Amino acid sequence: MTDPETLDERPLDGQVAIVTGASRGIGHAIALRLARRGARVACVATRVANAEGTAGACAEHTDGARAFGVDVSDTGAVADLVGTVVKEMGGLNLLVNNAGITRDQLLLRMSEEDFDRVIGVNLKGSWNFIKASTKSLMKCRGRIVNITSVVGLIGSPGQSNYAASKAGVIGMTRSVAKELAGRGVCVNAIAPGFIDTDMTAALDEKARGDLLGSVPLKRMGTPDDVAAAVDFLAGPSGGYITGQTMVVDGGLSL
Ligand code: NAP
Repeated sequence: MTDPETLDERPLDGQVAIVTGASRGIGHAIALRLARRGARVACVATRVANAEGTAGACAEHTDGARAFGVDVSDTGAVADLVGTVVKEMGGLNLLVNNAGITRDQLLLRMSEEDFDRVIGVNLKGSWNFIKASTKSLMKCRGRIVNITSVVGLIGSPGQSNYAASKAGVIGMTRSVAKELAGRGVCVNAIAPGFIDTDMTAALDEKARGDLLGSVPLKRMGTPDDVAAAVDFLAGPSGGYITGQTMVVDGGLSL
């Protein structure tokens, strides 16, 4: 893992980035990493107050970080938010779709509401932001990074809703990559494995132990392990990569 303290190159100076789910966990690490690289970051969470801590941390590294609140599954509200970012922050160069939820349950017990909500936030929420951002990204040969999950590749019992949403994000990433390649916009996904955040803290001890036992690198990932992959795809290194899913899982899916 790169020590973020050593991130002194600023290839994203002058660029505007939206990071959803930026209040905590992986999204917080991504927003901070992009700010250290020079980007002005629009930090999005369900409520503006939830994103203010991350925006404040970003503001120590870059001018113009802002906090926003929206339910990513609300198409109209997302369009309004993206319009505000473009107008008030000076355009849009990078979109990171990271907001996500789980509502785990075995298939026979899973409610329709829990299926619809997870698809609504994880899949439709990403589509909402991509749709609202595409015109701006086409103007500057921008980038999109979608945070999916290894569960979308390999499946997981009790996560039929979550796996479907994350597999959907991978298919959407490939399709949008093909649509936007002619305009120079690179669109990729990152599939984290077992990362130490609030989302995995909710698992019981046995589930955590079992999961950890199946990671060849024998540790949980950190939010910054994922942020480093976003950094790679968002910066100059990512200029000839599109439609791909980068797996960041310590070998879990092998
Ligand atoms: P987390 O700690 O639970 O944080 C979730 C973030 O998403 C929060 O910022 C939350 O905002 C935001 N969010 C949730 N629902 C939202 C909604 N309807 N509208 C707007 N924002 C919403 O999660 P995490 O572990 O950092 O996960 C981040 C992403 O990585 C997710 O897409 C997740 O599926 C994916 N992922 C995680 C792991 C893992 O092991 N942790 C593994 C693979 C993939 P509030 O604070 O306002 O609620």
